[in-house]
Amino acid sequence: MIHASNFSTEALLAELLDWVRIESPTYDPAAVNRMVDFIAPRIGALGFSIERLGGRDGYGDILRCRRPGDGPGILMIAHADTVHPVGTLASKLLIRREGDKCFGPAIYDMKGGTVIALAAMKAVIDANKLNLPVTFIINPDEEIGSPTSRELIEAEAKRHRYVLIPEPAKASGVRSRRDATPSNAFSSLRTDGPRTPAGPTGMVARPCASWLRSWRSSRAAPILTMDLRMR
Ligand SMILES: [Zn+2]
Repeated sequence: MIHASNFSTEALLAELLDWVRIESPTYDPAAVNRMVDFIAPRIGALGFSIERLGGRDGYGDILRCRRPGDGPGILMIAHADTVHPVGTLASKLLIRREGDKCFGPAIYDMKGGTVIALAAMKAVIDANKLNLPVTFIINPDEEIGSPTSRELIEAEAKRHRYVLIPEPAKASGVRSRRDATPSNAFSSLRTDGPRTPAGPTGMVARPCASWLRSWRSSRAAPILTMDLRMR
């Protein structure tokens, strides 16, 4: 068990605000790539090899990061892009803190989720409990449907046993995927949800429905147990 005392809310928030200060709207590949420049060494520091795939069609680069281990592993996916144009930070949505809430462009979707995912992964690694291989994809175009990264994500998903997407969900259970339909809807696997500076829930594992079915049918025990409550 990894206890909440492994984490500092203030340290997580300080790290998160550094992410938020780098604006990275989908349609500005130079801006997204500045975010990618910032993220890559953070994942590398956790023992991942970093592969950077050049952007195409006017979008930013993709990171595919791998950490070795035994057997079929875990795929984690997060996106570097946001919906907020450059300049939002200085005009419409200044970083501000009100009690236990903090505001800023993409602080919730999904820089908060990604920062927490990396902190959780670091804690598991530091506790010497991560034996499975992990692939971590950072894509640059999720906010518009992942046109340049979907193919890669689907190929990698087939190679992995577990798929985790630390996209923050709402307390109501409503997910932020804007184009969800019955045919592409994601199922939710809830983890022990921490109360984070950025939102009401923390890591949320969301394998596609078919993956969830196969996960259920395999009757495999959850491989990670994390208690991340930070009250
Ligand atoms: Zn998102």
